[in-house]
Amino acid sequence: MKIAPALIVLLALAGLGAARAPARFGQIDDARIARADAEPQNWMVHGGDQQAHRFSGLDQINPGNIARLKPAWSLEFDTKRGQEATPIVVDGVAYVTTAWSKVYAVDARTGRRLWFYDPKVRGDAGVFGCCDVVSRGAAVYRGRVYVATFDARLIALNARTGKPVWSAEVAPADSTYTISGAPRVAGGLVYIGNAGGEFGGRGYVSAYDAGTGKLVWRFFTTPGDPAKADGAISDEPLKTIAQPTWFGPHTDYRGGGHVWNSMVYDADFDQLYIATGNGYPWHRKFRSEGRGDNLFISSIVALDAKTGRYKWHYQETPGDSWDYDAIADMILADLTIDGRPRKALMHTPKNGFFYVLDRATGKLISADPFVSGVTWAKGVDLATGRPQVDPAAYFDTEPVRVGPSGGGAHSWQPTAFSPRTGLFYLQAVADSTSIFLPKTRFEYRKGVDNTGIYSWGTHAPGAEPPAEGGILEGALRPPTTPARPLLIAWDPVARQPAWTTPATGSGVLATAGNLVFLGRSRNVMGELVAFRADTGVEVWKHPTPNAIITAPVSYAVDGEQYILMATGAGGGAILAGGPDVRENRPGRLVAFKLDGKGVLPPDPPPAPLLPPPEEHWPAATVLAGEDHYAQLCARCHGVRVRSSNIVPDLRRSKALASKPLWSAIVEGGALKATGMVSWAAYMPPGGAEAIRAYVAEEARKAQASR
Ligand code: CA
Repeated sequence: MKIAPALIVLLALAGLGAARAPARFGQIDDARIARADAEPQNWMVHGGDQQAHRFSGLDQINPGNIARLKPAWSLEFDTKRGQEATPIVVDGVAYVTTAWSKVYAVDARTGRRLWFYDPKVRGDAGVFGCCDVVSRGAAVYRGRVYVATFDARLIALNARTGKPVWSAEVAPADSTYTISGAPRVAGGLVYIGNAGGEFGGRGYVSAYDAGTGKLVWRFFTTPGDPAKADGAISDEPLKTIAQPTWFGPHTDYRGGGHVWNSMVYDADFDQLYIATGNGYPWHRKFRSEGRGDNLFISSIVALDAKTGRYKWHYQETPGDSWDYDAIADMILADLTIDGRPRKALMHTPKNGFFYVLDRATGKLISADPFVSGVTWAKGVDLATGRPQVDPAAYFDTEPVRVGPSGGGAHSWQPTAFSPRTGLFYLQAVADSTSIFLPKTRFEYRKGVDNTGIYSWGTHAPGAEPPAEGGILEGALRPPTTPARPLLIAWDPVARQPAWTTPATGSGVLATAGNLVFLGRSRNVMGELVAFRADTGVEVWKHPTPNAIITAPVSYAVDGEQYILMATGAGGGAILAGGPDVRENRPGRLVAFKLDGKGVLPPDPPPAPLLPPPEEHWPAATVLAGEDHYAQLCARCHGVRVRSSNIVPDLRRSKALASKPLWSAIVEGGALKATGMVSWAAYMPPGGAEAIRAYVAEEARKAQASR
């Protein structure tokens, strides 16, 4: 029998397809998660395994052959905003979320898109994010993919088709809550927190039935109106434990304690740990008459996983006024400390201390500064668990320089623990500081980022008595020790670093191949770097077309080990604008393997400066524009109009030369769908034109300094 050549090709393709198409979609259950270490080819949960080690048992890639590590494939996302997701990879399929909470299912061998889901997040929700419209990932469980959207919905998708199965409203649509964190799953429940600590309100965690989307329990992390119970499982501990640590009248906006990043399920105790953010307003004088611990802000709280019942808490920064969120990833491990086996929880929050807690009781085992320059507390009393706060760190009428900075010695960026080396790996910043000063008064305005403090770079000239701004500027001089970014391998038993090496970067991945991978930014471009896990010696690096602000993961298909990560500049660094401003390109999912043959696109070209408008405005108009800009625009478009161009650098905006176009955007909300809402309600008439005057002035300066 003769077979036409075309048919042979078709048959071959069909055979290839049958052999290669992923057969199973999202078939992860509790039993499989519990044995995740036996399946190193998969990355089944956010933290890699049940104890959230972010450690891959794969060792094919190692210091001896890493020179052969090359791009395997990449997939372009349809968004240019920051990418903070941790992909989930199971049975040859990678599930990844992007900015604006979109979801991709991808063939992990080829990078071919299998399906795509866009939850159509409201563009105007974007203004309620402190740090970009990011998503840190999905959860995959029992044939479904769970994604939390930036406008505070939780959606279950069919893992094979990407079609929605159910959707739940985690927070009311007219609220200032957002969600950037990844859902977590265990025991038939999906857990999700929320964000919004710049805009007021109380943080909470919700548990939904994974099958039906029905709310099972909710735990609020800070007390509400003492006269009105929430009817939630948190009512009792809030009344008896938290409320006595708050002072002054209740207001609808006060609270904080948002669980915007880390949650970990602990099968040993069937409990869920939640990690809470700082309080709102940020300065305790506006929140609690300047006194009290303000539970459960800046804390780790252990809850019964099935019911949400309170079990224990440990507060890291009592009464915080420094933005010391305790939201860093929590890592669980069985450690032998002083000859005794301990079920430990390790944590490296913004406040600069490496905490080891006993998971059975919540009692502090040890707390040591993991970087130099931790000045807010002299140490932590191991008997009481309380920090010895330096009285000089409290600020009221005078500006005070405190270390670490409000950005933290380490924030949400993923950390890793290697059972092989016994070391905990994190990228951190030593000797960072912020100058803090409370505002003279606090006035809540819904939807406006108002924290109640000045800190470096965020004050609004003219918005308050000018002397305050002057004092703050003055206090910044003379410069202190420059901040030092480090990669740290911390020995949690010896309570000291095994090694440190200077390294900028983001989150980390540890592997059984004696490697630690670290992603980093080169402006809006990026670089993946590898270090030996035992010594910290850098052994390899490779450029990527987009910045890496999250952590890689590792998986294997057909016996080949891959390193995979979402790339795309943005997040908290969205404001950082240097002299080298580039065109902003869509983010990508990028995979590396030994002898990979993938081709990555070139670096984006410089973004041109356009000729500034010819018009000139009175100095008072420019000054008023500077004021509005600092209050309303700087958070996304960059302090003093210096932007990385992830959110447009307005000095380079085509709209700047046109009064009607500018007005249509700033007052008319013409670009609402992209996140640029109308600010007309927040300014007097003429405000938008004043902003244009100020930005034009800055554009002229930029042009002149070229
Ligand atoms: Ca915060």
